[in-house]
Amino acid sequence: MKHSRYIIVIWGVTIVILASLSAAFGRPRTEQAHQYYPFMLSSIEAVNGSTILLKIDTQLLAKPVPDWQIRFQDHLIPVFKYPVQSDGAFLGLVAIPWHAKPGQTFLIVEWTDSNGIYSRMIPFNIVVGKYRTEKLKVNPQKVNLSKKDLARVKREKKEVKGIYSSGSFDRFWSGIFQLPLTSDVTSPFGNKRMFNGQLRSYHNGVDFRAPIGKSVHAANSGIVRLTKNLFFSGNIVIIDHGTGVFTNYAHLSRIDVSPNQHIEKGQRIGLSGNTGRVNGPHLHWGIKVNGTYVDPLQFVDVIDSIIGQ
Ligand SMILES: [Zn+2]
Repeated sequence: MKHSRYIIVIWGVTIVILASLSAAFGRPRTEQAHQYYPFMLSSIEAVNGSTILLKIDTQLLAKPVPDWQIRFQDHLIPVFKYPVQSDGAFLGLVAIPWHAKPGQTFLIVEWTDSNGIYSRMIPFNIVVGKYRTEKLKVNPQKVNLSKKDLARVKREKKEVKGIYSSGSFDRFWSGIFQLPLTSDVTSPFGNKRMFNGQLRSYHNGVDFRAPIGKSVHAANSGIVRLTKNLFFSGNIVIIDHGTGVFTNYAHLSRIDVSPNQHIEKGQRIGLSGNTGRVNGPHLHWGIKVNGTYVDPLQFVDVIDSIIGQ
């Protein structure tokens, strides 16, 4: 009895201390936020090739604002309603290109309300990811391309670029993004890649160990935008999840979906394989956010961090 009374006293003292602390620090911060800072970044340090989240809490503004314009370098970042219950909050996905220079940088946010036009810079740091160099041996004809193949690659690059730049602003995805199959990662995102001794850019997705014929599932709901055999990617499926997010699944041995088809999270889209520029069967999985390839596994984690709240 004595013991529990003691605990109640301790709790009482703790609550008083917490209340006075919040009176001392909480209020001025809220007022400052009210005037200047409805913006919150999930991290002020971002690895090149990662995604960070920008949360905008419009309840901290004098008036609700409908017309945000958010830019990171030359990319416009669409803003959409926060995907989990949160009154007046919006979300923007900030993708940091693999080629981004390390050091301080910023987002530019512009908006208007009844009092005028506003512009803010939100600073953050880009740090260099711990990416390795990978040496791969593939068919020489897939490295030193013939004129005909070069023309094909150029054509396909243009087509794929068009797909990625015409995504829907609506949000088709919901909840967490799931992995397209359960397996080991054989090659992470971001590795610098030497093909037959020549440096050929970086790995813009993640590779999973997969024999020919393993089921591959959609990471989230969306609309299929491309199903095709491409020179490098082999049989590929590209899914538009809305809000600037696309996923792609490459080197498939079979494709089970078709363009413009609405698909559900977890739906089988095809079977793994060894088509395109490969040195063996596997699944290559890529995610593009607002025109930038990002680390798919880090993207899954960062979305999970808000969904799991
Ligand atoms: Zn790959």
